[in-house]
Amino acid sequence: MKLRANKILLPLTCLLCCYTSALLAISPQQTLLMEGNKRYVQGCSIHPREDMKTRDVWLTKQAPLAIIVGCCDSRVPPEIIFDQGIGDLFVIRVAGNIVGPIELDSIKFAAIDLKTPLIVVLGHEDCAAVHAVLEGKGFAPSMENISPFLQSAIFESMKLPGHSLTNAIDTNVRLVVEYLKTSAPLAELVKKNKLDIVGARYDFHEGKVLFFSHDTKK
Ligand SMILES: [Zn+2]
Repeated sequence: MKLRANKILLPLTCLLCCYTSALLAISPQQTLLMEGNKRYVQGCSIHPREDMKTRDVWLTKQAPLAIIVGCCDSRVPPEIIFDQGIGDLFVIRVAGNIVGPIELDSIKFAAIDLKTPLIVVLGHEDCAAVHAVLEGKGFAPSMENISPFLQSAIFESMKLPGHSLTNAIDTNVRLVVEYLKTSAPLAELVKKNKLDIVGARYDFHEGKVLFFSHDTKK
C-alpha cells in the first residue's frame, strides 16, 4: 500500500517541480541537478548510470548535462551530492572554486565542443581556502597561487553585513559567475541563450545545494 502511494506521489512531485522551474526560468538541466540533490538530502539517492551499460554508451563520446566548477574539498563531490552518474557532469575542481586560464580552457571545451548548456559555480559552507585568505593566511606556501584569485571577493564582501566567511564564499561564487559570463566565447553563448551560468552554495549540515537566483545579487 505504501509503495502504491509513492508511485502516485512521484509524478505529482515531478509536475510541481517542473511547474515551479518554469515560473522561475530554471533550465531543465538545473532542474535535474536540483532533483538529484533533493534525493541526496532525503537519503534517497538512486546512484543512476553507474553500470556497465552506461560505460558502453559513452565509450567514444560524451554529452554531460552540466559543467560544475567546484572546490576540491573532499566533502563536496558533485556526482554524489547531485546524485548523477557516469557521463552526466563535467567537473572542474580547484581549491576555492576559482577560475584561472587552465580552468577556463576546460570550461570552454565543454561549453563549446561538447555543447554543455549549463555551468554551475559551486561554493560550499566553511570553505578552508576562502577562510585562509580571509584570515590573512592567503600567502602561505599552499595558497600562494590561489590567493590572488580570491582577494577581490574578500575585499568586496567586507562591506556586507552578516557572516564574513559566508559573505566571502558567496561573493567569490558571484564574481566567478560574472567572469565566466563576460569571457569572450562563453558570453556569446549566454547571449544566444545556449548557455546558462549560475552560482550555488553547498551546505554541509543538510547536504543541500542552494542555487542563487538570477535576480538577486547572489
Ligand atoms: Zn573549499
